Amino acid sequence: MKNYKITLIKGDGIGPEIIDEAVKVLDAVASCCNFHFSYDEALMGGIAYDVTGDPLPQETISKSLNSDAVLFGAIGGPQWDDLPREKRPESGLLRFRKELGVYANLRPAVVYDELINASSLKPEIIKGVDIMVVRELIGGIYFGEPKGRTEDKGWNTMVYTREEIVRISHQAFRIAQKRDKRVCSIDKANVLDVSQLWRDVVTEVSAEYPDVVLTHMYVDNAAMQLVLNPKQFDVMLTGNIFGDILSDEASMLCGSIGLLPSASVGEKIGVYEPIHGSAPDIAGQGIANPIATIASASMMLRYALGEIEAADKIDNAIKKVLSEGYRTGDLAQFDAKEVCSTSEIGSIIANYIER
Ligand code: NAD
Repeated sequence: MKNYKITLIKGDGIGPEIIDEAVKVLDAVASCCNFHFSYDEALMGGIAYDVTGDPLPQETISKSLNSDAVLFGAIGGPQWDDLPREKRPESGLLRFRKELGVYANLRPAVVYDELINASSLKPEIIKGVDIMVVRELIGGIYFGEPKGRTEDKGWNTMVYTREEIVRISHQAFRIAQKRDKRVCSIDKANVLDVSQLWRDVVTEVSAEYPDVVLTHMYVDNAAMQLVLNPKQFDVMLTGNIFGDILSDEASMLCGSIGLLPSASVGEKIGVYEPIHGSAPDIAGQGIANPIATIASASMMLRYALGEIEAADKIDNAIKKVLSEGYRTGDLAQFDAKEVCSTSEIGSIIANYIER
């Protein structure tokens, strides 16, 4: 029987509660699909600082690199906000992504029919939206040199190399092959030299994927089109800063932050995590929505382990739970039949899979 080694990083706040539910669901799907998980826990964030004095112990990096995938909850909380910058939980997370070389951030934005009223847009605009934003994560203007500021001037540099654009483009095209086979590459090639290179290189790479249709769109138009007609998009391929902005815009089409998963992947390893933070305001109360984390576990099965059937089972179980009206408190006002705790939602999803 196949055994997958998963590093679990529960983190802070609601992190442990939501990861426990994802594990419950993973175990249910493993027993149905004839494979097995072995889990190894590692520390990161405030808890890691409290235990070891470092928000990212070296052991967490080595455990992660020695596993098949990493499932991560969330880090941070007010009790660590006054620490020096390098000791703060968020610094640990940024360093973690860099150390693991996870250069591609995948953020799906899927509108569930059952929660169509949770979006601020009209139902007819968002019904059926299923977008995957593929964002370059460790290059571009957030990392480019030179950068600096004086009293009267501040500057950053948007730099992309051919190699960086090639590898993120391959990610986008490979993902599109498993979806609706359309990539829309986002740039500002009418103004920026770096975007002209981006457009040329993406076009070159697309020649290796004749089954995928490539289009290009300027970033300002993309921001408009996302609210005007979001269904036109399948995979959106972006650089770092454009993706940062557009993926937040796309995710808000869906209503609740408690539903949205993500993956950060590189050549060595992938990290699968909800898009939300550690929600200190509701931590320890058993009311957090675990669906974003369970959907992240599904992405892990699909993209890291190639267990497509198992991933489909989880996604279908999430849809069933929502269609039957089971909701955590964050979604209680949207056609809830029953308001459930974090662990009840996890158990209902696991039960659907087992049945
Ligand atoms: P947050 O995402 O933690 O919370 C924002 C709001 O959404 C809160 O009202 C929270 O209760 C609610 N919420 C979030 N997840 C939820 C869930 N699963 N179910 C129900 N409600 C949910 O963002 P924040 O309040 O700005 O940040 C809190 C802490 O998290 C900070 O320390 C921040 O630095 C950290 N953070 C961590 C990550 C990460 O670990 N990747 C990401 C963002 C923020």
